[in-house]
Amino acid sequence: MALYLPRMGSSAPSGLCGAGGIPRASIPVAKANSMTSDYGKPNILLIFVDSARADHLSCYGYARPTSPNIDRVASEGCLFETCITAAPFSPASYASIISNQYPHQHGVNGDTVRAWPQEMVRLPQKLRSQGYFTFCVSNNSFVSRAMNGHLGFDEFVDPRTPWFLRVQNRIMSQCRKLGGAALADRLESRRLLAKDKGNSRDAVRTSQSILARNHRPFFGMVILMDPHALYDPSRLDFARDRRGARRFLRTINGRQMWARVMAGRTSLTREYTRLALDIYDAELLHADRCLGELVDFLDRTHQLEHTIVAVTSDHGEAFGEHGVWGHGFSLHECLTRVPLVLRHPGFWPSGSRFPGLVQLHDLHEMCLSVAESGDPRPDQYPHCLTQAANPDWSARHVTFSEMPVQSKTIRFMRELNPAFEPGVWSYHSWAVRSADWRYIQHDNGTQELYDLRADPGEACSLHSENRDVVATYSDMLARHRMSGATKAYEADESQERLILDRLRALGYVE
Ligand SMILES: [Zn+2]
Repeated sequence: MALYLPRMGSSAPSGLCGAGGIPRASIPVAKANSMTSDYGKPNILLIFVDSARADHLSCYGYARPTSPNIDRVASEGCLFETCITAAPFSPASYASIISNQYPHQHGVNGDTVRAWPQEMVRLPQKLRSQGYFTFCVSNNSFVSRAMNGHLGFDEFVDPRTPWFLRVQNRIMSQCRKLGGAALADRLESRRLLAKDKGNSRDAVRTSQSILARNHRPFFGMVILMDPHALYDPSRLDFARDRRGARRFLRTINGRQMWARVMAGRTSLTREYTRLALDIYDAELLHADRCLGELVDFLDRTHQLEHTIVAVTSDHGEAFGEHGVWGHGFSLHECLTRVPLVLRHPGFWPSGSRFPGLVQLHDLHEMCLSVAESGDPRPDQYPHCLTQAANPDWSARHVTFSEMPVQSKTIRFMRELNPAFEPGVWSYHSWAVRSADWRYIQHDNGTQELYDLRADPGEACSLHSENRDVVATYSDMLARHRMSGATKAYEADESQERLILDRLRALGYVE
């Protein structure tokens, strides 16, 4: 395991505030770091562990040691306790970070998944104009050349190519047609063909080779996919029943399992649910190890102290909460609350925690404000994430998320089970999240309201009893929906094919 050794000395956090004595970031503003000013603009490295939910990382209080390296980054930087994504699925979430827009503004949704619009003004473009070398190493096929994800980057590495996906799916479907379903499942579960997630070690090695060229300043995005289904059968670190876990993996990988379960075609026993969590946690640990190697490399090459390192995710993952398996479909906490840890000795004192609300795509503005400011003093950076250590600054009062309709997946679920009734999943959904409440509004008029302090699992909707709260958030949402809405972009036929391939590979459609 690569636990990197810190180079920097650090100041201890001080002061408590907020409910429950959470160590708050009412810590002294970090002193301007002389290395930052000598060096010029800081580098920025955003590391995404796709599908990582915050509450499954040790530094967020999870009982299992799933994240020793992320914990270490957090202990040397700042952990944001409540970071909310704009959308609970990859294409829209990454597009929000890149464009600093919500899904109804950038138009990348689940149904007309298409290449990101050429005209989208992107973060790497803006950073390039500020003198940054920009690169992206993506294992997520929604952040790929095929989706125009490469635009704006000086260097873009996408290990998967659309032809590979198409060949993969053709082989699998031929195999099934010829009666080799069991073989197809086996191949997929062995990941001989299910390479759709890429390989995190390769991604880290590729990133290291780019970083070794010592571009200054650089902006990098690295996307690791381990916790995303399908799962690797060799990762059983937390499985108490290894034989059962392997058997389960043969079942779960390659049979459109999540869609089958959500459609009511298959039910999972409690034992299988437990095994799914064991395996997911082991995948998190694997991503954490790879991420540790990358941070370790920055340290060994003396770049770490000049680099803002962000560790985060695009969305969470559900294991049966609110009837959802995998991701998409729901705007509840398990899918919208993502980890966010930021490290740079000049900006965030070691071991600080920020309890306020932030939005995942606040990263966009943070990167811009850091790049645009020639002043290395942290208090000269206006943006929230860099102000986390400032006791006079408070974060967002609310965040917004939205979930467009996934009609292709719903159609597939209906094919699996003609009696399947998708309910609110057939409607675009919107959510407002404050410190205390989550309000969800579906476009069929259905509403949900949860008191997150009393009911963190969002088990009991209180919308009928709290009409004034509903009215407040409903008004807020109405204004939000009007803000910068763009017409949905037309789906491009080749992109339609690509998205279908992708959904097939991930088991959401057949
Ligand atoms: Zn994702």
